Amino acid sequence: MHYLAHSLRYQDMQYRRCGRSGIQLPAVSLGLWHNFGGTDVFENGRAILRTAFDNGITHFDLANNYGPPPGSAEENFGRIMQTDFKPYRDEMIISSKAGYYMWEGPYGEWGSKKYLVSSLDQSLKRMQLDYVDIFYHHRPDPNTPLEETMSALDLIVRQGKALYVGISNYQADDARKAIDILQQLGTPCLIHQPKYSMFERWVEGGLLDVLEEKGVGCIPFSPLAQGLLTDRYLHGIPADSRAALGHFLKAENITEQRLSQIKRLNDIATARGQQLAHMALAWILKDQRITSVLIGASKVSQLQDSLKCLEHTQFSPEELAKIDAILKE
Ligand code: NDP
Repeated sequence: MHYLAHSLRYQDMQYRRCGRSGIQLPAVSLGLWHNFGGTDVFENGRAILRTAFDNGITHFDLANNYGPPPGSAEENFGRIMQTDFKPYRDEMIISSKAGYYMWEGPYGEWGSKKYLVSSLDQSLKRMQLDYVDIFYHHRPDPNTPLEETMSALDLIVRQGKALYVGISNYQADDARKAIDILQQLGTPCLIHQPKYSMFERWVEGGLLDVLEEKGVGCIPFSPLAQGLLTDRYLHGIPADSRAALGHFLKAENITEQRLSQIKRLNDIATARGQQLAHMALAWILKDQRITSVLIGASKVSQLQDSLKCLEHTQFSPEELAKIDAILKE
């Protein structure tokens, strides 16, 4: 069916400035890591994307390897760009990345200029786009000089294939170095994409300070810990859940201790008049250094549900102390 974006799509979403750049991102962004690949139901992914855009989500995050098979999420997104989103391209921030294994031989992964430039050319073809808004180096490469990787990002921007660049999965020290090199090259680093959730708090140990100091935005991925920080696993492992499929989140990750933490966090959320998913996202967004939370969804209803996090993002010191105590166990 022909798609016409909702006329009130900008009514409820909040937008936050990305570091000290000119770009604002929606407080909630959508990623296409799972549920949008060639083995997934195309119309389900399309419905999730339409619902997202209709609710003011202007930022969609991809990578060369998202699928399965690798590349298929970008291909599917490209199809939807053509059929549904083409008139709205200038309302969207579309990102892709390169860093993980994509093709055979020495130039198909990590951080060489050869790999990054080739990979983005492939991504643009798959997505049927002239440019991406943000191109990321997906993970640090211990064997390529940071100067080469960053100069590849700078080149890509100068070639007009990306408007902005970012880094992902870089620890604080490496992030600082990468940001400084990009600054010297004249292509400032827009954003960092780290893993951050109630269950994974490493960014609090220095990275967020570096990003604030340098004026770089932060968009945490897997803010719901792949679904653990929702009501999905409160009563067992549903057959259609990520843990049941067992690719990245595995049933054995849901230990008794984890489940006990999830249940007690759920009690705090209930006392706040929220669901656990809302509280988990609000808990990240309470920090003004965070630009956006980068969520996933396997159903339209999950996306609609997660957006409710924006209704209540304030925490009392007592609530924060209780949450900290549970997370320290
Ligand atoms: P989340 O932590 O948001 O997990 C998403 C999953 O949680 C869904 O697939 C669903 O699980 C469950 N879920 C979501 N909303 C709800 C809800 N309201 N109620 C109940 N369950 C819910 O994020 P992802 O792990 O999917 O990561 C998000 C994005 O981050 C990716 O798409 C990608 O763009 C990016 N990313 C980046 C990485 C990097 O290295 N830079 C690595 C990983 C992700 P179920 O499928 O079981 O229904």
